[in-house]
Amino acid sequence: MKINGHTRVAGIFGDPISHTLSPAMHNAAFMAIGLNAVYVPFHVKADSKGALKAAVESVRAMNMLGVNVTIPHKEAVIRFLDDVDAHALDIGAVNTIVNRDGRLFGCNTDGPGYLLSLRKESGFKPAGKRVVIIGAGGAARGILYSFLGLNPASVVLANRTIKRADLLANEFARKFSVPVETAELDRAVMEKVLNSADLVVNTTSIGMMGKGELGLPLKALPSKAVVSDIVYRPRKTGLIKAAEKMGLKTHTGLGMLIRQGAIGFELWTGKKAPVSVMEKAAVKALRQ
Ligand code: NAP
Repeated sequence: MKINGHTRVAGIFGDPISHTLSPAMHNAAFMAIGLNAVYVPFHVKADSKGALKAAVESVRAMNMLGVNVTIPHKEAVIRFLDDVDAHALDIGAVNTIVNRDGRLFGCNTDGPGYLLSLRKESGFKPAGKRVVIIGAGGAARGILYSFLGLNPASVVLANRTIKRADLLANEFARKFSVPVETAELDRAVMEKVLNSADLVVNTTSIGMMGKGELGLPLKALPSKAVVSDIVYRPRKTGLIKAAEKMGLKTHTGLGMLIRQGAIGFELWTGKKAPVSVMEKAAVKALRQ
């Protein structure tokens, strides 16, 4: 990487930020396509008054390509942008900002990135399928929204805090015609729910760094069902290992991370993202 007077800057705003794999992924991609650009992590502290607004303004002031936005700024960042796409507004969160000649455009690539990686890696097509989503947090919002736009037969949203799932289901029910039911994250209830599922996806943080167990009764699933987990640290969570042991088709979280990044990369550069280079770099960074 050669930094000179022509180098453009992209980056990521978050707090904490030291765990991010995005710099490894994007810098490898810039190098692979010979683009004079660099991707930097920026620790934009949540408790520092005015920091997020100033950070967003710097994207314009320093003529950056754009940035990714991660926890805890995805919602708060919206008010500082010039334009936000309808999908991100409905979800209420932005994870990618694109600098379009000084106008800052926000979008959310989490849901599209998830679905793209799910299709590429497992062949799963949501139309007419019965989908079970575990979790009702920020990641679940984007994933649920993207599924609902692709006409699944039904969606069940199961969460530890059922009220949160109910609120989310009601909010999106007004926008889509697909039925969204909610369910307690309870073994007996989940047995019934999984019995007729084509896909179950974990969007909770359970399994992250090997911590916690969802304890899903995977035996209830039809043999052709896909088990997906958006947690990517470790690459294979307990849920994925258990599903593999039972011979079920699986899909891991690293693909979502790579594909959401690749969509952002293409928006910033107007060039095709070298996805396999990004994947290699992310896998290497994950091992370190
Ligand atoms: P979030 O908004 O904080 O939501 C967390 C979810 O996990 C909620 O549904 C919460 O349930 C549930 N949860 C947490 N601890 C639990 C426990 N002990 N038992 C049962 N449920 C529990 O977080 P998020 O932003 O959605 O992120 C969730 C996970 O997805 C994180 O591990 C993150 O790293 C991962 N992620 C991956 C990608 C990717 O590219 N692969 C992208 C985004 C996020 P309650 O509502 O009951 O609290």
